[in-house]
Amino acid sequence: MSLEINGATGLTAIFGDPVEHSKSPAMHNAAYAALKMDRAYVALHVRSADLAAALRAIPAFNLLGVNLTVPHKETAARLIKNLSKEVRLLGAVNCVINRRGKLYGDNTDARGLERDLRELAVDLHGQLAIVIGAGGAAASAVLACQRLGASEVAICNRTTDRARALAKRMARRRRGASKLEPLGLDAIANVELLKGARLVINATPMGLTTARFPAFDYEATPRNCLFYDLIYAAKATAFLKPAIAAKRPVADGAGMLVNQGELAFKLFNRVSPPAGVMRAALLNSLGRSNQ
Ligand code: NAP
Repeated sequence: MSLEINGATGLTAIFGDPVEHSKSPAMHNAAYAALKMDRAYVALHVRSADLAAALRAIPAFNLLGVNLTVPHKETAARLIKNLSKEVRLLGAVNCVINRRGKLYGDNTDARGLERDLRELAVDLHGQLAIVIGAGGAAASAVLACQRLGASEVAICNRTTDRARALAKRMARRRRGASKLEPLGLDAIANVELLKGARLVINATPMGLTTARFPAFDYEATPRNCLFYDLIYAAKATAFLKPAIAAKRPVADGAGMLVNQGELAFKLFNRVSPPAGVMRAALLNSLGRSNQ
Protein backbone atom coordinates (compact mmCIF):
# COMPACT_ATOMS: atom_id res chain seq x y z
CA MET A 1 0.00 0.00 0.00
CA SER A 2 1.52 3.35 -0.95
CA LEU A 3 0.29 6.53 0.62
CA GLU A 4 1.11 9.79 -1.14
CA ILE A 5 1.09 12.75 1.19
CA ASN A 6 0.77 16.16 -0.43
CA GLY A 7 -0.28 19.71 0.46
CA ALA A 8 -3.97 18.78 0.42
CA THR A 9 -3.70 15.65 2.59
CA GLY A 10 -5.85 15.83 5.74
CA LEU A 11 -3.94 14.73 8.84
CA THR A 12 -4.92 12.82 11.95
CA ALA A 13 -2.54 11.60 14.66
CA ILE A 14 -1.86 9.90 17.97
CA PHE A 15 0.04 11.61 20.81
CA GLY A 16 1.82 9.36 23.32
CA ASP A 17 5.02 8.73 25.24
CA PRO A 18 6.13 6.18 24.20
CA VAL A 19 4.25 6.01 20.91
CA GLU A 20 6.53 4.04 18.60
CA HIS A 21 4.77 0.76 19.44
CA SER A 22 1.30 2.11 18.54
CA LYS A 23 -0.74 0.04 16.09
CA SER A 24 -3.18 2.91 15.43
CA PRO A 25 -1.29 4.32 12.38
CA ALA A 26 -1.45 0.89 10.68
CA MET A 27 -5.21 0.60 11.37
CA HIS A 28 -6.23 4.15 10.36
CA ASN A 29 -3.99 4.34 7.28
CA ALA A 30 -5.35 0.98 6.05
CA ALA A 31 -8.88 2.44 6.28
CA TYR A 32 -7.83 5.62 4.42
CA ALA A 33 -6.27 3.50 1.69
CA ALA A 34 -9.37 1.27 1.41
CA LEU A 35 -11.60 4.35 1.13
CA LYS A 36 -9.11 6.09 -1.23
CA MET A 37 -9.22 9.12 1.07
CA ASP A 38 -6.48 11.73 0.82
CA ARG A 39 -5.77 11.50 4.52
CA ALA A 40 -2.94 10.18 6.69
CA TYR A 41 -2.50 9.24 10.37
CA VAL A 42 0.84 9.77 12.10
CA ALA A 43 2.29 8.88 15.51
CA LEU A 44 3.77 11.88 17.35
CA HIS A 45 6.00 11.51 20.38
CA VAL A 46 4.62 14.06 22.87
CA ARG A 47 6.08 14.27 26.37
CA SER A 48 3.86 15.12 29.35
CA ALA A 49 5.38 18.58 29.74
CA ASP A 50 4.46 19.36 26.11
CA LEU A 51 0.88 18.06 26.10
CA ALA A 52 -0.80 21.47 26.56
CA ALA A 53 1.25 22.96 23.70
CA ALA A 54 0.59 19.91 21.51
CA LEU A 55 -3.18 20.21 22.10
CA ARG A 56 -3.05 23.92 21.18
CA ALA A 57 -1.22 22.94 17.99
CA ILE A 58 -4.13 20.75 16.80
CA PRO A 59 -6.10 23.69 15.31
CA ALA A 60 -2.85 25.48 14.39
CA PHE A 61 -1.82 22.52 12.19
CA ASN A 62 -5.43 21.87 11.19
CA LEU A 63 -5.25 18.26 12.41
CA LEU A 64 -8.72 16.73 12.00
CA GLY A 65 -8.54 14.61 15.11
CA VAL A 66 -6.02 13.10 17.51
CA ASN A 67 -5.98 9.95 19.62
CA LEU A 68 -4.32 10.12 23.02
CA THR A 69 -2.52 7.25 24.69
CA VAL A 70 -0.39 6.78 27.81
CA PRO A 71 0.29 9.06 29.73
CA HIS A 72 -2.01 11.80 28.34
CA LYS A 73 -5.60 10.57 28.72
CA GLU A 74 -6.30 11.88 32.22
CA THR A 75 -4.35 15.16 31.88
CA ALA A 76 -6.23 15.99 28.66
CA ALA A 77 -9.54 15.65 30.52
CA ARG A 78 -8.36 18.56 32.69
CA LEU A 79 -7.00 20.64 29.81
CA ILE A 80 -9.88 20.41 27.30
CA LYS A 81 -13.03 22.44 28.06
CA ASN A 82 -15.63 20.71 25.86
CA LEU A 83 -15.98 17.12 26.99
CA SER A 84 -18.43 14.32 26.30
CA LYS A 85 -20.52 12.94 29.18
CA GLU A 86 -18.46 9.76 28.96
CA VAL A 87 -15.19 11.66 29.48
CA ARG A 88 -16.68 13.39 32.51
CA LEU A 89 -17.57 9.99 33.92
CA LEU A 90 -14.31 8.21 33.05
CA GLY A 91 -12.01 11.19 33.67
CA ALA A 92 -9.99 10.34 30.54
CA VAL A 93 -9.90 11.47 26.89
CA ASN A 94 -8.72 9.16 24.11
CA CYS A 95 -10.05 11.17 21.15
CA VAL A 96 -9.68 14.90 20.49
CA ILE A 97 -11.82 16.18 17.64
CA ASN A 98 -11.06 19.49 15.94
CA ARG A 99 -14.44 21.16 15.41
CA ARG A 100 -13.65 24.27 13.33
CA GLY A 101 -10.77 25.20 15.60
CA LYS A 102 -12.48 24.19 18.87
CA LEU A 103 -11.33 21.03 20.63
CA TYR A 104 -13.82 18.42 21.80
CA GLY A 105 -12.73 15.52 24.01
CA ASP A 106 -14.38 12.11 23.78
CA ASN A 107 -13.54 8.57 24.88
CA THR A 108 -14.21 5.48 22.73
CA ASP A 109 -12.52 2.90 25.00
CA ALA A 110 -15.65 1.79 26.90
CA ARG A 111 -17.79 1.74 23.74
CA GLY A 112 -15.00 -0.15 21.94
CA LEU A 113 -14.86 -2.82 24.63
CA GLU A 114 -18.66 -3.02 24.83
CA ARG A 115 -18.87 -3.54 21.05
CA ASP A 116 -16.21 -6.23 21.17
CA LEU A 117 -17.97 -8.06 24.02
CA ARG A 118 -21.26 -7.90 22.09
CA GLU A 119 -19.48 -9.34 19.03
CA LEU A 120 -18.30 -12.14 21.33
CA ALA A 121 -21.98 -12.69 22.27
CA VAL A 122 -21.43 -11.80 25.94
CA ASP A 123 -24.73 -11.10 27.72
CA LEU A 124 -24.24 -10.06 31.32
CA HIS A 125 -27.89 -9.71 32.36
CA GLY A 126 -28.21 -11.18 35.85
CA GLN A 127 -24.51 -12.10 35.81
CA LEU A 128 -21.34 -11.29 37.75
CA ALA A 129 -18.37 -9.71 35.98
CA ILE A 130 -14.96 -9.38 37.63
CA VAL A 131 -12.74 -6.45 36.65
CA ILE A 132 -9.12 -6.65 37.82
CA GLY A 133 -7.62 -3.16 38.20
CA ALA A 134 -8.95 0.28 39.09
CA GLY A 135 -7.15 2.61 36.66
CA GLY A 136 -8.42 4.29 33.50
CA ALA A 137 -8.85 1.08 31.51
CA ALA A 138 -10.69 -0.55 34.43
CA ALA A 139 -13.14 2.39 34.51
CA SER A 140 -13.94 1.72 30.83
CA ALA A 141 -14.31 -2.00 31.59
CA VAL A 142 -16.72 -1.32 34.47
CA LEU A 143 -18.82 0.99 32.27
CA ALA A 144 -18.94 -1.63 29.49
CA CYS A 145 -20.10 -4.27 32.02
CA GLN A 146 -22.77 -1.89 33.37
CA ARG A 147 -24.02 -1.27 29.82
CA LEU A 148 -24.11 -5.00 29.14
CA GLY A 149 -26.48 -5.36 32.08
CA ALA A 150 -24.25 -7.04 34.68
CA SER A 151 -26.12 -7.47 37.94
CA GLU A 152 -22.82 -7.25 39.82
CA VAL A 153 -19.31 -6.04 39.00
CA ALA A 154 -16.52 -6.97 41.41
CA ILE A 155 -13.60 -4.53 41.12
CA CYS A 156 -10.45 -6.26 42.40
CA ASN A 157 -7.41 -4.04 42.81
CA ARG A 158 -4.04 -4.11 44.60
CA THR A 159 -4.89 -0.75 46.19
CA THR A 160 -8.36 -1.35 47.60
CA ASP A 161 -8.96 2.37 48.16
CA ARG A 162 -8.69 2.94 44.40
CA ALA A 163 -11.24 0.16 43.82
CA ARG A 164 -13.55 1.90 46.33
CA ALA A 165 -13.10 5.28 44.64
CA LEU A 166 -13.82 3.77 41.21
CA ALA A 167 -16.93 1.95 42.46
CA LYS A 168 -18.23 5.17 44.02
CA ARG A 169 -17.64 7.17 40.83
CA MET A 170 -19.22 4.60 38.52
CA ALA A 171 -22.21 4.07 40.83
CA ARG A 172 -23.20 7.67 40.11
CA ARG A 173 -24.27 6.54 36.66
CA ARG A 174 -28.04 6.84 36.56
CA ARG A 175 -28.91 4.05 34.12
CA GLY A 176 -28.24 0.44 34.99
CA ALA A 177 -28.53 -1.28 38.29
CA SER A 178 -25.22 -3.11 38.54
CA LYS A 179 -24.04 -3.59 42.10
CA LEU A 180 -20.40 -2.49 42.25
CA GLU A 181 -18.27 -4.31 44.79
CA PRO A 182 -14.77 -2.93 45.55
CA LEU A 183 -12.33 -5.66 46.68
CA GLY A 184 -8.62 -6.24 47.14
CA LEU A 185 -6.51 -8.23 44.67
CA ASP A 186 -6.66 -11.24 47.01
CA ALA A 187 -10.33 -11.62 45.99
CA ILE A 188 -9.19 -13.24 42.72
CA ALA A 189 -8.23 -16.30 44.80
CA ASN A 190 -11.73 -16.45 46.34
CA VAL A 191 -13.36 -19.59 44.92
CA GLU A 192 -16.84 -18.51 46.09
CA LEU A 193 -16.55 -15.32 44.02
CA LEU A 194 -15.07 -17.07 40.96
CA LYS A 195 -17.83 -19.71 40.97
CA GLY A 196 -20.41 -17.14 39.83
CA ALA A 197 -18.34 -15.25 37.21
CA ARG A 198 -19.50 -14.94 33.59
CA LEU A 199 -16.61 -12.65 32.61
CA VAL A 200 -13.18 -11.83 34.06
CA ILE A 201 -11.35 -8.82 32.62
CA ASN A 202 -7.70 -8.04 33.26
CA ALA A 203 -7.45 -4.25 33.17
CA THR A 204 -3.92 -4.06 34.59
CA PRO A 205 -0.51 -4.38 32.91
CA MET A 206 0.17 -7.54 34.99
CA GLY A 207 1.72 -10.18 32.78
CA LEU A 208 3.24 -7.48 30.57
CA THR A 209 5.20 -5.47 33.14
CA THR A 210 5.49 -8.44 35.53
CA ALA A 211 6.82 -11.89 34.65
CA ARG A 212 3.58 -13.62 35.68
CA PHE A 213 -0.04 -13.16 36.57
CA PRO A 214 -0.91 -13.74 40.28
CA ALA A 215 -2.38 -17.09 41.33
CA PHE A 216 -5.86 -17.50 39.90
CA ASP A 217 -8.12 -20.55 40.14
CA TYR A 218 -9.37 -20.73 36.53
CA GLU A 219 -10.99 -24.11 37.15
CA ALA A 220 -13.26 -22.59 39.82
CA THR A 221 -15.08 -20.48 37.19
CA PRO A 222 -18.05 -21.80 35.18
CA ARG A 223 -17.13 -23.46 31.85
CA ASN A 224 -18.54 -20.53 29.83
CA CYS A 225 -16.70 -17.84 31.81
CA LEU A 226 -14.89 -15.59 29.30
CA PHE A 227 -11.38 -14.44 30.20
CA TYR A 228 -10.63 -11.09 28.55
CA ASP A 229 -7.21 -9.45 28.74
CA LEU A 230 -7.05 -5.77 27.74
CA ILE A 231 -3.42 -6.43 26.84
CA TYR A 232 -2.97 -7.61 23.24
CA ALA A 233 0.05 -9.40 21.86
CA ALA A 234 1.31 -11.66 19.10
CA LYS A 235 0.70 -14.70 21.33
CA ALA A 236 -1.56 -15.65 24.25
CA THR A 237 -0.86 -13.41 27.27
CA ALA A 238 0.22 -14.60 30.74
CA PHE A 239 -3.37 -14.07 31.98
CA LEU A 240 -4.94 -16.04 29.13
CA LYS A 241 -2.56 -19.02 28.79
CA PRO A 242 -3.85 -20.88 31.88
CA ALA A 243 -7.45 -20.04 30.89
CA ILE A 244 -6.85 -21.75 27.54
CA ALA A 245 -5.36 -24.74 29.38
CA ALA A 246 -8.52 -24.83 31.57
CA LYS A 247 -10.61 -24.81 28.33
CA ARG A 248 -12.26 -21.49 29.07
CA PRO A 249 -13.11 -19.06 26.24
CA VAL A 250 -10.57 -16.22 25.93
CA ALA A 251 -10.09 -12.92 24.09
CA ASP A 252 -7.36 -10.31 24.22
CA GLY A 253 -7.56 -6.54 23.83
CA ALA A 254 -7.05 -6.54 20.04
CA GLY A 255 -10.83 -6.50 19.51
CA MET A 256 -11.26 -3.54 21.90
CA LEU A 257 -8.44 -1.69 20.15
CA VAL A 258 -10.03 -2.23 16.73
CA ASN A 259 -13.47 -1.17 17.92
CA GLN A 260 -12.29 1.99 19.72
CA GLY A 261 -10.26 2.78 16.59
CA GLU A 262 -13.26 2.33 14.27
CA LEU A 263 -15.33 4.65 16.49
CA ALA A 264 -12.50 7.23 16.55
CA PHE A 265 -12.15 7.01 12.74
CA LYS A 266 -15.83 7.89 12.36
CA LEU A 267 -15.49 10.84 14.78
CA PHE A 268 -12.42 12.22 12.95
CA ASN A 269 -13.56 11.62 9.37
CA ARG A 270 -17.38 11.52 9.59
CA VAL A 271 -17.33 8.27 7.65
CA SER A 272 -17.10 4.70 8.92
CA PRO A 273 -14.11 2.57 7.97
CA PRO A 274 -14.94 -0.41 5.74
CA ALA A 275 -15.76 -3.50 7.86
CA GLY A 276 -12.77 -5.65 8.72
CA VAL A 277 -10.05 -3.38 7.29
CA MET A 278 -8.75 -1.99 10.59
CA ARG A 279 -8.91 -5.44 12.21
CA ALA A 280 -6.93 -7.02 9.35
CA ALA A 281 -4.30 -4.25 9.58
CA LEU A 282 -3.94 -4.75 13.35
CA LEU A 283 -3.70 -8.55 13.17
CA ASN A 284 -1.20 -8.22 10.34
CA SER A 285 1.00 -5.85 12.34
CA LEU A 286 0.78 -8.25 15.32
CA GLY A 287 1.84 -11.13 13.04
CA ARG A 288 -1.58 -12.77 13.52
CA SER A 289 -2.91 -12.37 9.99
CA ASN A 290 -4.13 -15.97 9.89
CA GLN A 291 -6.90 -15.26 12.53
P1 NAP B 1 -3.21 2.36 34.82
O1 NAP B 1 -4.16 3.51 34.90
O2 NAP B 1 -1.78 2.60 35.01
O3 NAP B 1 -3.78 1.25 35.84
C1 NAP B 1 -3.01 0.29 36.26
C2 NAP B 1 -3.86 -0.63 37.17
O4 NAP B 1 -3.13 -1.81 37.21
C3 NAP B 1 -4.05 -0.12 38.58
O5 NAP B 1 -5.28 -0.59 39.06
C4 NAP B 1 -2.87 -0.78 39.31
O6 NAP B 1 -3.12 -1.05 40.68
C5 NAP B 1 -2.76 -2.08 38.57
N1 NAP B 1 -1.39 -2.59 38.58
C6 NAP B 1 -0.33 -2.14 37.90
N2 NAP B 1 0.76 -2.88 38.15
C7 NAP B 1 0.38 -3.83 39.05
C8 NAP B 1 1.04 -4.91 39.70
N3 NAP B 1 2.34 -5.16 39.48
N4 NAP B 1 0.33 -5.69 40.52
C9 NAP B 1 -0.98 -5.45 40.77
N5 NAP B 1 -1.67 -4.44 40.18
C10 NAP B 1 -1.00 -3.65 39.31
O7 NAP B 1 -3.28 1.63 33.39
P2 NAP B 1 -4.48 1.66 32.38
O8 NAP B 1 -4.31 2.80 31.46
O9 NAP B 1 -5.73 1.52 33.15
O10 NAP B 1 -4.20 0.34 31.50
C11 NAP B 1 -4.24 -0.96 32.03
C12 NAP B 1 -3.94 -1.96 30.92
O11 NAP B 1 -4.96 -1.93 29.90
C13 NAP B 1 -2.62 -1.71 30.20
O12 NAP B 1 -1.95 -2.92 30.04
C14 NAP B 1 -3.03 -1.13 28.86
O13 NAP B 1 -2.12 -1.46 27.84
C15 NAP B 1 -4.37 -1.84 28.61
N6 NAP B 1 -5.28 -1.08 27.72
C16 NAP B 1 -5.71 -1.69 26.58
C17 NAP B 1 -6.58 -1.03 25.73
C18 NAP B 1 -7.06 -1.69 24.46
O14 NAP B 1 -7.61 -1.01 23.58
N7 NAP B 1 -6.93 -2.99 24.33
C19 NAP B 1 -7.02 0.27 26.04
C20 NAP B 1 -6.56 0.85 27.22
C21 NAP B 1 -5.69 0.16 28.06
P3 NAP B 1 -2.87 0.07 41.82
O15 NAP B 1 -4.12 0.93 41.79
O16 NAP B 1 -2.74 -0.70 43.05
O17 NAP B 1 -1.64 0.81 41.43
